[in-house]
Amino acid sequence: MADHPTYQLETLAVHAGQEESDPATNSRAVPIYQTAAYTFDDSKHAADLFALARPGNIYTRLMNPTTNVYETRIAAMEGGVGALGTATGAAAITYAVLNVASAGDNIVALSTLYGGTFALFTHTLVQFGIECRLIDPDRPGDLAGLVDDHTRLVFGETICNPKLNVIDIDAWAKASHDLGLPFMIDNTVATPYLCRPIEHGADVVVHSATKYMGGHGTSMGGAIVDAGTFDWAAHADRFPVMATPDASYHDVVWTDAAGPAAYITRARTVLMRNTGATLSPMNAWIILQGIESLHVRMDRHCENAQKVAEYLLGHPAVAWVNYPGLEDNEYHEVADRVLTGKGYSGLVSFGLTAGRQAGATFVEALQLFSHLANIGDAKSLVIHSASTTHSQLNDQELIAAGVAPEMVRLSVGIENVDDIIADIDQALAVTGK
Ligand SMILES: *Cc1c(COP(=O)(O)O)cnc(C)c1O
Repeated sequence: MADHPTYQLETLAVHAGQEESDPATNSRAVPIYQTAAYTFDDSKHAADLFALARPGNIYTRLMNPTTNVYETRIAAMEGGVGALGTATGAAAITYAVLNVASAGDNIVALSTLYGGTFALFTHTLVQFGIECRLIDPDRPGDLAGLVDDHTRLVFGETICNPKLNVIDIDAWAKASHDLGLPFMIDNTVATPYLCRPIEHGADVVVHSATKYMGGHGTSMGGAIVDAGTFDWAAHADRFPVMATPDASYHDVVWTDAAGPAAYITRARTVLMRNTGATLSPMNAWIILQGIESLHVRMDRHCENAQKVAEYLLGHPAVAWVNYPGLEDNEYHEVADRVLTGKGYSGLVSFGLTAGRQAGATFVEALQLFSHLANIGDAKSLVIHSASTTHSQLNDQELIAAGVAPEMVRLSVGIENVDDIIADIDQALAVTGK
């Protein structure tokens, strides 16, 4: 696989990270290496592994051959130099930030964030002495005014969950780079099939693989992908953790030891080793099954969501519809620039004319849709964001995050679209009464 960098996304989704068959057993499927540790050949081998003098497996908190296939595959699909699997998407985001930010530092985040990320950035990171400054996702020109010597990164989402605004990745990456900062992006909603942020200048891509990558709502997982593009050494004053001797690891200088993979190497050997939000090999394997059909499922998610959005647009009980695939959507033009042209993902949000309470009635009247806090399942899902995922936010924060009180978010599944629309139709009829 490594010899075929020209394989396209669909081929990488099925093959990347796995040689023809398992060298130990000839197993064609990726084997599940359900082991905590690996034997050393002798004491010298053990010492060399610990000193990073040679590659090899030590302990599954740090690395695992099944998880390695998952990491290599996601890195290949995103076009990065390396990836780190994490127990959840939340862990991936936490590590992506903590890998370069310490107490006394700050980060800048585009304000339309996934609810969990919003809470992490504005509350939990504050406990660690890291301040988050929120910025309007449509105004990269404002970045310079928010950045100071203690700023360490800029963070955004490709298709923001739940407002479904699409960000101008090229503009944000350029604005960040002009200020000597890496641009990090959560590509969960788009997946590498619909957007490859690294091609638009992003330096680090994070995923909740729990969603479309796994695709069936069964297993938690996350990933951090390092583009290998950010020159940490050129900004050593801002990133001493990356470009000066690291006392926590034999005084290694990560930019010297790992070159373009410095960031992801440090994330694994410092953060993952010392804090341990490790992806289980079993979950890596389950999510790999999902990734093999990512492109096929995403085609159907996109097609169904487009039809649902168009249906909702014409309904008198519906006040507004957010779907970047709609011609007159505010973000349609940006979406056509930053996405791959294969679709606009499976999320649709809309407001009911009858307001907040009608949102709750609608959710309860649906029969095919499951009422739960998840997205990216083969099954259609629904949630009323203001009373659930974003319930910790005050009114002002809700508006900044793009969550209207009457907003309902659909994660349109891959069922027959006529059945999906019929269910929405009967629920809207109930809501209208
Ligand atoms: C779900 C989600 C996360 C968090 O991922 P988990 O796997 O649930 O920890 C982060 N970002 C986005 C956009 C998400 O939808």
